Amino acid sequence: DVVVALQNVSKQYAKGKPALVDVNLQMHKGDFLFITGPSGAGKSTLLKLLYGQERPTSGEVIVEGTPISQLRGNQLAKVRRRIGVVFQDYKLIPRRTVAENVAFVLWAQGYSRKEIHRRLWPTLKMVGLQDKSESFPHELSGGEQQRVSIARAVVGTPPLLLADEPTGNLDPDNALQVIKILKKLNSIGITVVVTTHNEQLVRVSNHPVVQIKDCHLRHVRK
Ligand code: ADP
Ligand code: ADP
Repeated sequence: DVVVALQNVSKQYAKGKPALVDVNLQMHKGDFLFITGPSGAGKSTLLKLLYGQERPTSGEVIVEGTPISQLRGNQLAKVRRRIGVVFQDYKLIPRRTVAENVAFVLWAQGYSRKEIHRRLWPTLKMVGLQDKSESFPHELSGGEQQRVSIARAVVGTPPLLLADEPTGNLDPDNALQVIKILKKLNSIGITVVVTTHNEQLVRVSNHPVVQIKDCHLRHVRK
């Protein structure tokens, strides 16, 4: 049960040198993977390829058995609903409450009000924010904002969660808390990919690690 795979994927943006060359990667259900590498190495590019925000220059990306490199419009949107994404800068809607930020994805996908409420509370509880549901993003700490963005990413119960430098703006305590939540989600069966250049976080955990360097991916820890 391969959830997502990169097959001989190379990516070159219109201008400049290649970002990734001949990358192969397979994630099975329940895997947890750290992707490390220096700034500009291609970590974000790899995640963007996985959820179809960028197309490979050559090679193929397979999500749950579907080759996605040629998909567009509705077909691509359907695949992307199977993938939760978390960013370094949270990307919350400023004038919406925590509950609205998390509910919005479901609402936009046409879920009923009843189903939205059924999903909202357990998800907020899972990230420890049930008491902050009516707060606005600017009233929250960075760690809390990142936990809202994790709740938003998983409220639709995607099988795959991608987190791009999720701890990049957080102090060590909040960073660890975010990683703990990602591990908890992984333990209930969600496949998780996390990019980071925080060596400490990688060291204190026992999950597999790959490194991107000079456009190539290599396994650092199995
Ligand atoms: P990382 O996430 O490891 O910091 P990125 O994937 O963001 O690295 O970037 C990899 C390389 O691709 C860098 O050289 C970067 O400048 C380049 N790059 C990223 N996005 C674009 C883009 N939209 N257009 C052109 N070059 C880009
Ligand atoms: P329904 O039509 O299914 O009853 P609602 O319009 O009542 O759905 O909205 C359901 C949930 O989505 C509510 O929690 C509401 O706050 C939230 N919501 C609705 N519209 C927006 C929006 N534009 N931005 C963010 N959240 C929204």
